[in-house]
Amino acid sequence: MNAKTILVVEDEASIAEVVSLYLKRAGYQVQLAPDGKQAMSILERQMPDFVILDLMLPEVDGLSLTRWLRDRSNVPIIMLTARREEIDRIAGLEMGADDYVVKPFSPQELVSRVRAVMRRLGREQPEAESDRSLKFEGLTIDARSRVVVANDSPVELTAKEFDMLYLLAAHPKQVFTREQLLERIWGGAQYIDPGTVTVHVRRLREKIEADPSHPARLLTVWGVGYKFEP
Ligand code: CA
Repeated sequence: MNAKTILVVEDEASIAEVVSLYLKRAGYQVQLAPDGKQAMSILERQMPDFVILDLMLPEVDGLSLTRWLRDRSNVPIIMLTARREEIDRIAGLEMGADDYVVKPFSPQELVSRVRAVMRRLGREQPEAESDRSLKFEGLTIDARSRVVVANDSPVELTAKEFDMLYLLAAHPKQVFTREQLLERIWGGAQYIDPGTVTVHVRRLREKIEADPSHPARLLTVWGVGYKFEP
């Protein structure tokens, strides 16, 4: 297996250095960029497997860089933020960062988060499975185009709704707890309210069920979680 490459965008040399050291020890290849502009020129040449970026950067700040990056790629992003940057952090997540780590952090903690995000994305889109279309009576889920057709009409799903439906439908009759769904779809991120799962299930039912109040596909297993009925 080839070592994954991680681009670390951080203007504080001491932090960049220690992060780089820990990532290398964990078996990753590391590229460093001290500001947003240099990060962009690296990213334009070759997309790494993962990006860790500081929010407060010279030249091009972390938020703009996240937005720029998301226009081009689904590469996983972890933001490094200071406590006072909470507003920016939320903006960053909305812009598509996958997770954040608040400074000061332990480098080991950062490595664990990187692994967790990689694992989550790897599980969500394994090579063989990502091409797999799931077909049921009155419901087709195409993983490649991320198009869902329910009762002969195409349905628009958000990214998370699609991921959740795909996960459940790829494992028919298997019960997933809310915690498992949070972990698999949101990476178990602590800022996510467990009620989010309930909300997503409800929206999915409204979109794919013939009668959302009497679901035939996405079933609640009381006291446990949810399962997909094929
Ligand atoms: Ca900084």
